[in-house]
Amino acid sequence: MTNYAEFHRRSLEDRDAFWAEQAQLVDWKTQPKQICDYSNPPFAKWFAGGFTNLCHNAVDRHLKDRPDQAALIFVSTETNQEKVYSFHELHAEVQRMAAVLKELGVQKGDRVLIYMPMIAEAAFAMLACARIGAIHSVVFGGFASGSLASRIEDASPKVIISADAGSRGGKAVAYKPLLDEAIRLSSHKPDSVLLVDRGLVAMNLLAGRDHLWAPLRQKNLNTVVPCEWLEATHPSYTLYTSGTTGKPKGVQRDTGGYAVALAASLKHIFCGNAGETYFATSDIGWVVGHSYIIYGPLIAGMATIMYEGLPIRPDGGIWWSLVEKYKVTVMFSAPTAIRVLKKQDPALLKKYDLSSLRALFLAGEPLDQPTAQWISAGLGRPIVDNYWQTETGWPILAICKGVDDAPTKFGSPGKAVYGYNVKLLDENTGEELKGANQKGVVAIEGPLPPGCLQTVWGDDTRFVSTYWTTIPGRMVYSTFDWGIRDEDGYYFILGRTDDVINVAGHRLGTLEIEESISGHPNIAEVAVVGVADQLKGQVAMAFAVVKDTSLVTDDASRLKLEAEVMKLVDGDLGAVARPARVRFVTVLPKTRSGKLLRRAIQAVCENRDPGDLTTMEDPAALQQIKDLITT
Ligand code: AMP
Repeated sequence: MTNYAEFHRRSLEDRDAFWAEQAQLVDWKTQPKQICDYSNPPFAKWFAGGFTNLCHNAVDRHLKDRPDQAALIFVSTETNQEKVYSFHELHAEVQRMAAVLKELGVQKGDRVLIYMPMIAEAAFAMLACARIGAIHSVVFGGFASGSLASRIEDASPKVIISADAGSRGGKAVAYKPLLDEAIRLSSHKPDSVLLVDRGLVAMNLLAGRDHLWAPLRQKNLNTVVPCEWLEATHPSYTLYTSGTTGKPKGVQRDTGGYAVALAASLKHIFCGNAGETYFATSDIGWVVGHSYIIYGPLIAGMATIMYEGLPIRPDGGIWWSLVEKYKVTVMFSAPTAIRVLKKQDPALLKKYDLSSLRALFLAGEPLDQPTAQWISAGLGRPIVDNYWQTETGWPILAICKGVDDAPTKFGSPGKAVYGYNVKLLDENTGEELKGANQKGVVAIEGPLPPGCLQTVWGDDTRFVSTYWTTIPGRMVYSTFDWGIRDEDGYYFILGRTDDVINVAGHRLGTLEIEESISGHPNIAEVAVVGVADQLKGQVAMAFAVVKDTSLVTDDASRLKLEAEVMKLVDGDLGAVARPARVRFVTVLPKTRSGKLLRRAIQAVCENRDPGDLTTMEDPAALQQIKDLITT
């Protein structure tokens, strides 16, 4: 085993040599001319002058050694489908999709928005874009028209790929009407919409714009579409994520850096080998889906499981049955999913042969000790908490199992991962907190390692102002998380420094939810906060001031308005953003300068001391909230 401290030190101090070695884990058409060009901070250009292709690395390059090995394993417990695509078959399907995209006029650099359920065609679509150098933008299928519209507006896609419906708990969820509404709301209109018809719900097609996938696929069964060799810095995709402001940001990823970062992470962090099976239980709409359902495992020559369905249907053993059946060696999930499973019959953990599984990786939200201990004891396998963000694309903190035999510590996602120069900074002075157990903002000194965001799509200024200039006195990347580091270099994450909340591992901006709720004709003002929840980590709670109080005079009328507000959020942002409760007040707690005191509201909801309230305009406002939640 390498000395990890030395491995990490080298990745920073001998940066270019370190990453030049990692770069050999992927295929290049032309080798990079420069490993890291950081002449214009904070913009890092990794592997400049090199030419490669993500789809080539994920698919084509495995055709020689493993054409018949499983590549994509699609399992749907919603529609009872199971289909295994070998690398050879995946190659054929991706070329068909690429041919259709070309036929629809998509060229290198064009955007393609993917709004799809967890079906194999979604993977074909992502890989097909990568193949021809189109920039995909996957939007989580659980988002509704408003969220989708803002993403269409920002990404301005030439083509949108979607499906008739997703399915959840056995019930079809139509996508097409939400998509039509989103296109109507957006000032940008795509030239074409490509639709996979799963036969779940009927679709109205708009002549000239909407095309069905099946006949176009049939027409292109044998069309050959070679990979386009792309400059390492060519954007591969954008993925929208919430921040402090209402408008989601398009995190822009490159091509070469991402390929290298993922290949290296499979080796050093996840210890996944070609020929094995990787199972990430996330959704392609999230970053884990991009990095560890699609690109990472395939680049490593592994089979990857794409699972559509709930973790508890037909029963809480479904995931473990897949581990047994497909001999999964590496599994990746989120703490909320494990907390859901914890409520099921514990015997289900022992029912299947899990001997292939080497480790379970968990990320996306804090991992509480009881959950970690329960699953670790139940599986008898190491549990590896790891911390990262949509922006970084791969772990910032983890125990890098391939190069570090250090133990894990409950409550900590581990140490700084190689390539990341992680610092804890004082939020007011920007000073580095070098001592153990001091609380500071988790920050990363530039350049960010390969694979992290290049910029915010179409907005370099926002990239700099959002991430790099929030800490006084220095240009450093802020994660917007609080953390501490113990004497052994293990970090502990203590929550966000901004107004982002984390519901069941899904990142939501409280402002986005507030904007949606304010759209109700009888809501004057609203505050949304994240409140600790046993199952989901956090849930959103809304406190709203109504315009016409005569409409909320009793429990029945309050419940009616609450239901209306929830429906509004469902239709606008999607059920993921729906607050757990909407409570009505006559005034909201604010500072004298008019700033909402969200932290004080949150503290009261969590039964904590709200802290210093001397700047509060009207103390009765907080008292109202206190009274509400205790009744
Ligand atoms: P996302 O961009 O949706 O992946 O959300 C990233 C945010 O989730 C981080 O900034 C953290 O607040 C939180 N997060 C992710 N992983 C962890 C973890 N292992 N422990 C604690 N918080 C986490």
